[in-house]
Amino acid sequence: MRIGVISDVHGNAVALQEVMVSLESSAVDEVICLGDIVGYGPHPNICAHIVRENCSGVISGNHDRGLTDHPTASAFNDLARVALCWTRDRLRTDDLEWLRTLPSENRHRGGFLYCHGAPGAPDEYIITPRDATVTMLSSAESIVLCGHTHRPMACAIDEDGRCQALRWADGVELSLDSSRRYLINPGSVGQPRDGDARAAYAILDLDRRTASLHRVPYEVRATQAAMIQGGLPAELATRLASGN
Ligand code: ZN
Repeated sequence: MRIGVISDVHGNAVALQEVMVSLESSAVDEVICLGDIVGYGPHPNICAHIVRENCSGVISGNHDRGLTDHPTASAFNDLARVALCWTRDRLRTDDLEWLRTLPSENRHRGGFLYCHGAPGAPDEYIITPRDATVTMLSSAESIVLCGHTHRPMACAIDEDGRCQALRWADGVELSLDSSRRYLINPGSVGQPRDGDARAAYAILDLDRRTASLHRVPYEVRATQAAMIQGGLPAELATRLASGN
């Protein structure tokens, strides 16, 4: 079973459409989404529609919850909050309701957990191998997929609890050893923050026990133009070009 893994789409339909085309040509059996479907970007309705139509498993991110759960909106910085209010004003009612029903994490029948931030802690950022170690030592999962940081990351944890950060770049395919446990972040489709402006996604192949990272260029200027035209903060449009 080949599973496409997308995360942090953030209302960027231009990037998402490129990723979906790429996933289709990769012959994946299904696609799962690790949350933050909307927020920041100019196309919340299109992104909600694409994810609803194409993903077999979807969980919510902090931005998705921020739309429907007012108290958590105070946890966002000013730009994120402006974008959330902008999104809430434009999102279709049934998409808002759909976002409200999403779980914060899910276990896939293929035997792995997927969450937004960390297992049991959807708002937590796993940034360093040390963070990954703490997370994996408190979890019994052999594979955990997470998003939220907008930075691709892959770590392997040995039986003795040692964590190794793995090289995880465009085109890299990892062999997943059954004696190790793995934490994998596919990066962000719609707002990468690792210095690479291209959209990111991963493919998990459960039969071959491999995971691979993929980057796809998209027309950043088209998304930026839609953001400016729609009245979203210019800073949010600018950052897309640098991938930061
Ligand atoms: Zn996000």
